[in-house]
Amino acid sequence: MQMVSSFMKHKIVMIGDSLVGKTSLMHRLTRDVFMPSCQPTVGTGCATWSTVLGKDPIYLQIWDTAGQERYRSIGGIFYQNAEAAVVVFSKTDNESAKNVKSWVKQFRAVMGTSPFIAIVQNKSDIDSSDERKEEDIEETDIKKWAKQKGFFYIETSAKTGKNVKELFLTVTKSVAQ
Ligand code: GDP
Ligand code: MG
Repeated sequence: MQMVSSFMKHKIVMIGDSLVGKTSLMHRLTRDVFMPSCQPTVGTGCATWSTVLGKDPIYLQIWDTAGQERYRSIGGIFYQNAEAAVVVFSKTDNESAKNVKSWVKQFRAVMGTSPFIAIVQNKSDIDSSDERKEEDIEETDIKKWAKQKGFFYIETSAKTGKNVKELFLTVTKSVAQ
């Protein structure tokens, strides 16, 4: 396998409340080509994914938390040098949708406003019918807010694979400029 020096890799961070599916999305993307070649800080997971845009290979180094998001205490080192943030919430967890804004804020406090931000509603395979009207309202809010802010917004399912490639391809294009 050819060595890829770290300056060719684009660091991406997965953030959002716990149990929304961050790790599952990363595994869904990288399960075929999992290369545990990253050296993340203690207490984080990491995977490399590559694709070809035009004729150039592009490498993403995707950083994942190891559960410390539960305490909302992700340190600055985790965010440092990230070129994009994938901010995930769950269709089945209204609280996680409400917290999207504060995750974006936390990320931007370290990295400023230039990195690409993707807002992801995961678990789109789960049917949210009648009893969850309130959550639907929150979802619509986040979607509107994301548009307003100029963030990329997408609905995914780590379970079925829906839009997972699309999400990371969009992220790849954003960092490859
Ligand atoms: P994390 O804490 O954000 O990393 O979330 P995990 O990836 O560990 O997922 C938390 C739980 O949600 C696990 O039981 C997953 O199997 C489940 N899960 C993750 N993504 C999906 C999805 O797209 N659809 C469904 N139905 N379940 C999911
Ligand atoms: Mg996780």
